[in-house]
Amino acid sequence: MATPAKPGVSADLRVRVDQGACTGDGLCVQLAPSVFEFDVDGLAYVKDETGDLQTSEGAYVGVPLPVVNAVLDAADECPGTCIYVTRPDGTIEAGGPAD
Ligand code: SF4
Repeated sequence: MATPAKPGVSADLRVRVDQGACTGDGLCVQLAPSVFEFDVDGLAYVKDETGDLQTSEGAYVGVPLPVVNAVLDAADECPGTCIYVTRPDGTIEAGGPAD
């Protein structure tokens, strides 16, 4: 059974960053600072709804509803093509390497 969405967080979209391809330019942090933040290594990570940086490899967070468009824009424009916005079934909604 699917986990219920947290209040204010999309039930359909989640986001992660592949730090191995992150250039550290900060576009995502500018577009959606409530979701993306640099760690001390200069790479971007996602934060959960309490602001905790998720530093484990492949960590996903649900996309907060107020910033869905900003997160999708970040995924589309990420120079490293390393932001993945996916649906619960794993389908990529935005981001990742171009086909
Ligand atoms: S936009 Fe992409 S490459 Fe740039 S800091 Fe964010 S995750 Fe890294």
